[in-house]
Order: sequence, then C-alpha cells, then structure tokens
Amino acid sequence: MSTLIYWFKNDLRLIDNPALLEACNRADRLLPIYIHLPQAAHVFGFPREGFHRKAFLRESLKDLRVQLRALGSDLLEYAGEPADILAQLAQDTHANAVYCERIEAPEEIRRSQEILGRGITLQEFWQSSMLSPDSLPFTAQDMPDMFTQFRKKVEYAGLKFSPPVIAPSKIPALPELAQIPLMQSSQELDNSMHQFLGGERNALEHLKQYLARRLPDTYKETRNQLIGQDYSSKFSPYLALGCVSARTIVAKLDVYEQTHGANDGIYWLWFELLWRDYFRFLHFKYGIQLYREAGLSGTPISKGGYQHFESWRTGSTGKSLIDAGMRELLKTGYLSNRMRQIVASYWIYDLQGDWRLGAAWFESQLIDYDVYSNQGNWLYLAGLGTDPRGGRRFNIAKQEQDHDPRGEYQRLWL
Ligand code: FAD
Repeated sequence: MSTLIYWFKNDLRLIDNPALLEACNRADRLLPIYIHLPQAAHVFGFPREGFHRKAFLRESLKDLRVQLRALGSDLLEYAGEPADILAQLAQDTHANAVYCERIEAPEEIRRSQEILGRGITLQEFWQSSMLSPDSLPFTAQDMPDMFTQFRKKVEYAGLKFSPPVIAPSKIPALPELAQIPLMQSSQELDNSMHQFLGGERNALEHLKQYLARRLPDTYKETRNQLIGQDYSSKFSPYLALGCVSARTIVAKLDVYEQTHGANDGIYWLWFELLWRDYFRFLHFKYGIQLYREAGLSGTPISKGGYQHFESWRTGSTGKSLIDAGMRELLKTGYLSNRMRQIVASYWIYDLQGDWRLGAAWFESQLIDYDVYSNQGNWLYLAGLGTDPRGGRRFNIAKQEQDHDPRGEYQRLWL
C-alpha cells in the first residue's frame, strides 16, 4: 500500500499538473497539502508577502480545496519549515514519498536539500515553463545568454509548447489524518477587496473571456498602455501561483490561432511568455549567481540609496509619474510592465538605489510575484544580467510624453 504526500507550491491547479497526476496514479492514499513558509520580515521591516499577495493566495487555495473536496479529497494547510512539517507528516501517515513541483531558485533548492537530509524521498517535477527543458535544442549550460539568440534557436527548432496533461479524474483517499495542528484554512479567513480573483477556475474563466473578446488581436498595440484591465492579458497572477499553466494558455492560443488566423498579437503574447521561460532557464545555467549584488558582472557595484527607499516605496518622491506607479502597486499589488520598467529604472539610476532592495519590495507587493521573472527583470534593468548592452535607464520625461501625455494615469493614482 503506497501513501504519498502531494505538496502544492506554485502549482495550485488540477489541470496540467504532471506531478499531481503522477502522484494520483501511484498512490493508494494521498495527502494534498500546502505549507505557508515562515517569512521573516525583510531587513527593512516590510513583510516578504504583503497584503495583496496573501489575499490572492488565500482565494487560490480556497478554490483548490473546493475542487479537491469535490473529488473526495481535501487540502490541508500547515505553516512552518517544510522539512519539519514533512518529516512529521511522513511519520504520522507512513508516507513513502513527497511529490511536488521543482523550483530552481536558491531558497527552494536549499529547502529541498533540507528535506532530503531528513531521509524523506522527494520526487520533484519541473512543470512551470511553456517549453519543456528536455525539448530545447541546447543543454542548460549551452543556453544562449542573450534572449534574442535564445528565441531564434527556439524558433528555428520549431518549438512552441509542450502539450498540457489532463487533470486527474480521481484523487486517492486521504490517509489517517495527521496529528500536527493544522493552520486555520484559507476559507475561514476574511476576503479582501482587490481586482483579481484567485484560483484555477477563475484563471480559466479569465482566459476564456480574454479569448472570447478577441483581445489577443489588439495585444501588440495595447500592451504598453497603463490604465485598465484589457491592455495586457493579466495572466501573470494566475501563472505566478500556477492556477493555470503556461502550456494551457498557449495551447488555447494555438486553437485560437487556428480558428481566427495568425496575427501579430498572438505572436507577441507567445514572445512574452518565452521571456518568462528564458528567465526560468537562466536559473538552470547561472543559479545563485543571479542573486549576487554584482549579478553576472564581475564587479560589485556599491549602491545604497536607502534614504530614498521610503519615498520611492510609498509614492512620495515628488516625481508624479513615479509616485503614481508606486501608489498603484501599493494599492492593487499589480503594475503594468511599462510602469515596472519606469519605476525600477528610477530606483536604480535616478535614486541610485540597490536593485536588490527594489526587487525585494516588488516581491512583497506583486500578486504575480515570480522569483524567476522578478529577479531576471531587475537584473536585466540594472545591467547586471546577460544583456551585453548594459543597463536600461529610462528617460522619465520621455516615458511620460509617450505613455501618459495627458496625465490621466497620474491623476488616477495621485
Ligand atoms: P502580458 O503583457 O499580457 O504578457 C503575457 C505574459 O507574458 C505575462 O503574464 C508573463 O507571464 C509573461 N511576460 C510578459 N512580460 C514579461 C517579462 N518582461 N518577463 C517575464 N515574463 C513576462 N512578471 C511576473 O510574472 N512576476 C514578477 O515578479 C515580475 N517582476 C517584474 C519586475 C520588473 C522590474 C519588470 C520590469 C517586470 C517584471 N515582470 C514580472 C514581467 C512583466 O512586467 C509582467 O509579467 C507583466 O506585466 C504581467 O502582466 P500581464 O500578464 O498582463 O502581461
């Protein structure tokens, strides 16, 4: 008799979750769990997981629980160090192994090592990218450093996505309930007001309406706008928690293209999702080097800018475009790609701030916080990543002229 634990991480879904499918196929009894990590406050005092992120996570967990219960199972939530919790649960349930997705970032790798160090069998599956790493026409170590080279090789090889897998049709029964005290489950906590509703079913609904309204057709023209729901896809919060997989999105886009014909907007969405994969695969190649102050450059740059952090963070620098952006982030947990670039550039180049502190603030606030994309984009803007052209300094006056000439965005958030 095989008892397995399924540890949900940033894959809060049933559809296209190969790790979960495999666990369901192998187990006689399965314990689905989620672990809230101990999040020490950042050294500057703000929580690593801010209000909006927490709310979006709560909804996503709640939706997952409802779906698991409909299949005769459940989702149990714990809080603490995964190695401690898993060791205790494995002992209580006599589980043979823990199945979960693999996250290729330093903290997550360290945690996996701790779990293995406790003698627990850990089966990790890579499943958060659109392209399968095995299908790439190069090994991780030979991956082209520059995005354009990477994209060209992918396009030349004709790679678009790996087909998604189906949801498990049934979930094995729960083992005898664990003795470790459960955390109060997400469904019992208050809901908060914010513009995105978390969870797999909301993600699929969002994708459906986005396609039904033919928004991919205009994506290329609208994607740099700043105001509203429709100028960009808003897939990112769902992708970040894995409420929907990138492969499911591109598989639906493929059907859309077959139905309505190819266009630049569809290509451009795929192109942006390829950036997401690129930052993931860079982690296979460079790992912890992407987290150093000097990034991939040999030279540590000694920046501080800490005295300006409070005014940047709260949107009170006196520079109205920047303040509008930082207030949008603070109030909603979301910011357009264009505004992310502008406020990050302002932090790094105008305020001479430490890029890692800027990245930490984004981590705390963004409901679509994704370790690979956040780290990758910040490093790229700071000119410490793989881009040979150096940093990306944005001319704020020009950005204002190009993207908010009538000041509507600034009026909205100030
Ligand atoms: P769309 O424009 O509709 O793009 C479709 C999808 O493509 C996105 O959902 C996303 O998955 C992917 N994508 C688009 N642009 C990028 C990009 N530059 N890098 C990686 N993937 C991309 N994105 C995150 O998901 N999480 C982060 O933590 C994050 N941090 C960022 C930090 C900085 C400083 C910058 C400049 C960008 C960051 N991004 C991050 C990338 C990008 O801003 C968001 O993915 C995008 O704005 C999300 O909105 P959307 O889903 O409507 O995007």
